[in-house]
Amino acid sequence: MTVLPESVTGPHASAGASLRAALAEAARVVGADRVTHPGEETAGPPVSPLGPNVSLYRSRAVHGVVRPQTAEEVRRVVALFADGTTGARLHTFSTGGNWGLGSREPAADGAVVLDLSGLDQIRDIDVAQGWAVVEPGVTQARLAHLLAGTERMLNVTVSSAHTSVVGNALDRGVGLRHQRVEDLMGLEVALPDGETVRVGWWPEPSRPTPVYPHGLGPSLVQLFVQSDLGVVTAATVRLLPRPEALRVVRLHFTPGQVEEATAEIRRWVAQGLASGVVKIYNEAAAKAYGGPAGQYLVHVCVDGTARSVAALSAVVTAEAERSGLFSAVSATDAEDPQAANHDIAVRVERAYAGDPDPTDVLFEAKTGRPAARLDEEGGFLFFLPLVPFTGGALARADALIEQVRVETGVRCGATFNTLGADVVDCVITMRFARRGDEADAAHLALDRLYELFATEGFIPYRLDIDHTDWADRLAPDAGARAFARRLKDAVDPRHVIAPGRYA
Ligand SMILES: Cc1cc2nc3c(=O)[nH]c(=O)nc-3n(C[C@H](O)[C@H](O)[C@H](O)COP(=O)(O)OP(=O)(O)OC[C@H]3O[C@@H](n4cnc5c(N)ncnc54)[C@H](O)[C@@H]3O)c2cc1C
Repeated sequence: MTVLPESVTGPHASAGASLRAALAEAARVVGADRVTHPGEETAGPPVSPLGPNVSLYRSRAVHGVVRPQTAEEVRRVVALFADGTTGARLHTFSTGGNWGLGSREPAADGAVVLDLSGLDQIRDIDVAQGWAVVEPGVTQARLAHLLAGTERMLNVTVSSAHTSVVGNALDRGVGLRHQRVEDLMGLEVALPDGETVRVGWWPEPSRPTPVYPHGLGPSLVQLFVQSDLGVVTAATVRLLPRPEALRVVRLHFTPGQVEEATAEIRRWVAQGLASGVVKIYNEAAAKAYGGPAGQYLVHVCVDGTARSVAALSAVVTAEAERSGLFSAVSATDAEDPQAANHDIAVRVERAYAGDPDPTDVLFEAKTGRPAARLDEEGGFLFFLPLVPFTGGALARADALIEQVRVETGVRCGATFNTLGADVVDCVITMRFARRGDEADAAHLALDRLYELFATEGFIPYRLDIDHTDWADRLAPDAGARAFARRLKDAVDPRHVIAPGRYA
């Protein structure tokens, strides 16, 4: 499954003079040591300069990887390819931790890859006003560290602490407080015509304007999210008020109770009892969090002042007990050193409070290895559909996952992340050993999940690099897709920016 296509032979063998000239010029812009060509490091058959990926997606043909370190270098590199004569398309990643969906790989063959992990400046920050200007290489660990002990916090994900704030938001990632796009206030974008624009909200040195992304007229920030219109070189990111107190209530329920238990949790969310994203793990996903065998695990965060947290956790506990749906309820695991899951509970509460844990303990419990070795040694795929937040819909999602197990033998992990009272982000994970048949079965399961969930109306909000055709198949209105293509033609007439997974 990792066999490289014959086209991975590098610019010296397959690309034209124009591409070689552009890459040579890019090396002058960023430094020769910051451009990698395919296969140049080994004497054997050509290897992808992107290395392996954790999902065993086919390595795409890549003409080279360029690693700029400043926004101006990005602008100049984009301009080098702008006339389209190289035939290459520019694919960009920030820190490339898009595990399960493609890691660093572009969706299509024939790309020059821009690795922006070297753009790692926190350019500006205003804790009182609640914003930071960060470049794509800034990790959640670095930004959260700066905010430790202040009145503001970052909405962190449960991926590695060393993944990018900007990259995750640009793929509509989900943090523990809400979907990360809600934190994007402004974007700095290198456009295919060689211009850099700043859309949305940006700080003005002479006056403290309110942090508000939409401005007047058409709101432009979201144009560059899951987008092939430009390369993002910085973002203004919202920093959230830090709650004075916070607690995570931990509950269990049996698989037979999915419909009733999730309906009950929906009631709590709709009535404002929970803060941030409620996480509901099936048995396979709950293991890393110390979930008991054969049970679902739920984390409900309550936060506010000390008194409101005491009151809300008591209310959630009482509602859970009154419902008779939950086999265990605990609001004190993080306070009680004797609790069986004390260490995990402390880390979970810290994460809801904006600490992504630079040691990646829970991340490694889930993946079995450090982030740096994941693409080389790990094996898993993600499928990420949205499901209406009703007990019936979540029970149906659970049944579809079971159907996939019966058909393929693959037991998927599933985490239901509530995005408000109406929508659930359903994270479905297939783990496999890299050698043997398990990878094929997992990829088969992934295909079935797309078909079964889409038929049900549970459509993915992020795509992997092998299922890009689903962007058209899932579009509710063909006219809207055609309009997006007209925008692409206007902004990027030579189609220099790689179409990615959504175009
Ligand atoms: C155990 C585990 C837990 C996870 N938990 C979460 C979670 O809680 N929430 C979540 O959302 N994900 C999660 N993930 C998935 C993934 O690891 C994260 O989304 C991660 O943040 C993505 O990596 P990145 O930040 O390096 O983004 P990148 O890989 O750098 O970027 C992602 C994509 O965004 C686009 N992009 C990136 N930068 C730019 C740019 N500068 N200009 C234009 N386009 C750009 C590209 O299409 C790129 O492929 C998890 C993964 C694992 C293995």
